[in-house]
Amino acid sequence: MPDTTTGDVTELLQQLIRNGCVNDGTPESGFESRSTDVLRNYLEGPGLDIETFEPTAGRASLVARIEGTDAAAPTLLLMGHTDVVPATEGWSRDPFGGELVDGEVWGRGAVDMLNLTASMAVATKKLAKTGWRPRGTLIYLAVADEEALGTHGAGWLTEHELDAVKADYVLTESGGIPMPTAEGTRLPVIVGEKGTYWCRLIVHGTPGHASQPLRTDNALVTAAEVVRRIAEYKPETMIHDVWRKFVEGMAFPTELSEPLLDPNALGALVQDLPLGLARQAHACTHTTFAPTVLHGGTKTNVIPDRVELEVDIRTLPGQTNEAVRLMLDEALGDLADRVDVEVITGETSTASPIDTPLWDALNRVSNALTPGGASCIPFLTVGATDARFFRRLGIPSYGYGLFSRHLTYEDYATMFHGDDERVDVESLRLSTELWQALSHDMLGG
Ligand SMILES: [Zn+2]
Repeated sequence: MPDTTTGDVTELLQQLIRNGCVNDGTPESGFESRSTDVLRNYLEGPGLDIETFEPTAGRASLVARIEGTDAAAPTLLLMGHTDVVPATEGWSRDPFGGELVDGEVWGRGAVDMLNLTASMAVATKKLAKTGWRPRGTLIYLAVADEEALGTHGAGWLTEHELDAVKADYVLTESGGIPMPTAEGTRLPVIVGEKGTYWCRLIVHGTPGHASQPLRTDNALVTAAEVVRRIAEYKPETMIHDVWRKFVEGMAFPTELSEPLLDPNALGALVQDLPLGLARQAHACTHTTFAPTVLHGGTKTNVIPDRVELEVDIRTLPGQTNEAVRLMLDEALGDLADRVDVEVITGETSTASPIDTPLWDALNRVSNALTPGGASCIPFLTVGATDARFFRRLGIPSYGYGLFSRHLTYEDYATMFHGDDERVDVESLRLSTELWQALSHDMLGG
């Protein structure tokens, strides 16, 4: 019997890629309504109620529901975005061609995250087609504008049309790339995201002639010391629950797992670990500070009175913007009063609990669908996704999907917003099966 799942999800993904809903951050970009049209045409039929919302011209999102029979049973939301980031000239194939080559679909969005947006749609359609009558409600949400700030997508929907998207559990990108360990395959589930605190430091000085620099108040010299202090600042090591459960789940040898969970030993350990793991271990257990942009000075013979420095700060779950500001003052020390701080963005970190029925269901279903079995481990990501809008409403939200062993974690990470993004059709089939099995498990019927 031909497998229609693989054919359907491959074809739908190709169409979404070819629409090229490139979001460059401007309200006029994206034009996701082309993809909501494709999805509406695909989904329309008995068993599904479909609505679209277009808060800004061209920026449409689509909601499709299979209404449950029991109001007390849970609602599960499967959310995929339809926009993608721009592509560079460096691709070996047309980034918007959606070509199928040797069992792989190529194109911008193949792993971020049109693959999941397509597989969630195919799973929803298949469930509706069989006349499935669940106790709980299944909602499929194809959302615009994830790659900018969600202003025309999930941010707008949760603020203005919450009834249409309200759920007890949310699943969206990313995660689920199989990680081999000494005790079997582990599948990372994104349960939280670090927060973003981007700021601009204005360093002040006094202008003067550069031919007589003695005892001048040079803003650039002060800024150099500010950069040094920020780079050398050692924020407190915090072993968050997500990091603990990740390390325990990875079944590392004791001589590695013990210091990875010891706030007094971790600082020395990350100096010796392989770079990838070292950076990850450090980022998951610290607020990080990276000075990234410096502008200052006007002319070679003028002592500068103003320098602007931008700093990328990433925060851990539970940290407020006020707490970050205190850390920054601590880093600056006696230079704090020479510097004005302007906040560019202050998005606090969000994290969902791990002890939820959704976690248990993901674990059961993933284990059954993975050859040789697998178990889920929690993961903290540094990137922001639309899950944050739902976590802030107290709704447990995870990032997940299922992938074959065709791609390694490294391949996957480089393709995210990188060149030659592609996904194998076996991964597309697996994710489609995951959403179907999970819906049956969580919603009954
Ligand atoms: Zn994405």
